[in-house]
Amino acid sequence: MDSPQSERRVEGWAARDTTGILSPYSFTLRKTGAEDVAFKVLYCGVDHSDLHQMRSEVQTTNYPLVPGHEVVGEVVEVGPEVKKIKVGDLVGVGCIIGSCGECSSCKSNLEQYCSNRIFTYNGIYKDGKPTQGGYATAMVVHQKFVVSIPEKLAPEQAAPLLCAGVTAYSPLRQFSGLKGLKGGILGLGGVGHLGVLIAKAMGHHVTVISSSERKRVEALEHLGADAFLVSSDPAQMGQAIESLDYILDTVPAVHTLDSYLSLLKVNGKLMLVGVATQPLQFDAVNVILGKRTITGSFIGSMEETQELLNFWAEVGLTSMIEIVKMEYVNTAMERMERNDVRYRFVLDVAGSNLE
Ligand code: NAP
Ligand code: ZN
Repeated sequence: MDSPQSERRVEGWAARDTTGILSPYSFTLRKTGAEDVAFKVLYCGVDHSDLHQMRSEVQTTNYPLVPGHEVVGEVVEVGPEVKKIKVGDLVGVGCIIGSCGECSSCKSNLEQYCSNRIFTYNGIYKDGKPTQGGYATAMVVHQKFVVSIPEKLAPEQAAPLLCAGVTAYSPLRQFSGLKGLKGGILGLGGVGHLGVLIAKAMGHHVTVISSSERKRVEALEHLGADAFLVSSDPAQMGQAIESLDYILDTVPAVHTLDSYLSLLKVNGKLMLVGVATQPLQFDAVNVILGKRTITGSFIGSMEETQELLNFWAEVGLTSMIEIVKMEYVNTAMERMERNDVRYRFVLDVAGSNLE
């Protein structure tokens, strides 16, 4: 790495247009500011949102775009006002790297809902430069948006927790302590499989609702779910009507909500986290007659992210990940899109040939 006085040259992989294909790309990072943490990227999880943004499907993407917001790295330099983190520490960065610090969301430690939040990539930083993510050799991030990886947690295990994990944890956290609740996890992918592990660790009875039979054995035997429903099978769905207190919906595509709403008990909650690129539909009667709620949730706060990492390490949970090199990333995207990953790709950035 260059000296702290100069901008850092970084090697990453970027999308250049709406095909979303990633290829090598060099760029520079800002100098390490007084409250900044500079780190060498070790691992970065591959999130479905990366693909949405690489193709400009959700909001307008500015190219070149270096994705990656499940980043774990080893600290190489800290600014003079950074107290809790030191060189050599393992740290993590999730989906946002800045916020206004003054609005009611920021003041309530819910900075992910700040309307001036700065996204880890495809954002504009305070210096006017585009932000670039963790599919690259290094990052510089303000200390407020850096979490510490607990010693007991392997860095590659920590990566998916920084977006997918906290996306499941933040809405589920409202139910922690309520043992015996019956929860549903809709869509067993990156977010969903972490949701199963977290909900089980909270003591809930967990039903996986999946689009096919393919994941039944893994869901029940490896992830410890209590029940498995195939959403396209009316008989299975019919038997589960009004049985669940909540459903965490992680589906990244358009789907009608009615069959899932009818699985909820009176007062049950359907919590949307999956991003559909077109509006979703539901019959109002399905909400009214069961006094049901449809709600949404966006990642988690920095506080919740640290809490999840500590919880994960304490309970000793293990996610199912597939570690791949950067050269494989375009294939990983294709496989993720066709629902062929068990259950999260994690890029071994430090072990890839980027320099
Ligand atoms: P993923 O690994 O691709 O998993 C999504 C799962 O949904 C799949 O494994 C599949 O599970 C199911 N699915 C996929 N296509 C489907 C379709 N057409 N119809 C029905 N089910 C389908 O994706 P992910 O990384 O977990 O992300 C899930 C979604 O959450 C994405 O839209 C992502 O952008 C979003 N996200 C949101 C937040 C947030 O803060 N709200 C944060 C992170 C990610 P089955 O095989 O079990 O059906
Ligand atoms: Zn704010």
